Amino acid sequence: MECGRPKPVVFLDRDGVLSVEKSYVCSVDELEIFPYAKECVHTIHEKGYLAIVVTNQSGVARGYFTEEQLQKMNRYLMRETGVDAVYYCPHHEKGIVGKYARQCQCRKPSAGMVWQACRDFGIDTADIENSYMVGDRASDIQLGQNAGLTTVLLESGYGTKRLEEDVAPDHICANLAEFTRNILFHRHD
Ligand SMILES: [Zn+2]
Repeated sequence: MECGRPKPVVFLDRDGVLSVEKSYVCSVDELEIFPYAKECVHTIHEKGYLAIVVTNQSGVARGYFTEEQLQKMNRYLMRETGVDAVYYCPHHEKGIVGKYARQCQCRKPSAGMVWQACRDFGIDTADIENSYMVGDRASDIQLGQNAGLTTVLLESGYGTKRLEEDVAPDHICANLAEFTRNILFHRHD
């Protein structure tokens, strides 16, 4: 890979992928990062990918926590895991906090956060074709399919039994460590 060239990406959901899935994580204290997360992000980088988080955080629109609290959690997540960026959707059409209570193009399964990351990091079509979406929810897999990414469903969040909708991911792994070990590590471009 040439120096400075844009890279393919491993897009990561947050809860259930990098941290323990809880219905709403409202502060840094409640954000329980998996012990293997940092090493996995290191492997992602070693293999020549960016690691970018795309996360629905409708708790902002619902008034459970503020956008400032969320940004504090994002900084903590970046520091503790080494991910390159965190994109979040604070919206929900049934929200109660004025400016966030609306439909949007960023809430997964819409691909708005992925396209924004592509613009910010100069990721092109060829890179996208070599990129992954890793998540624990049907909406993660649907976003990945919408954006043309290889999709990976993890069982470390809500588990495959609780999938809201039938989806057909390209791969199913127990957790992020299994993904980096079994899929990413053996990939040769
Ligand atoms: Zn949104």
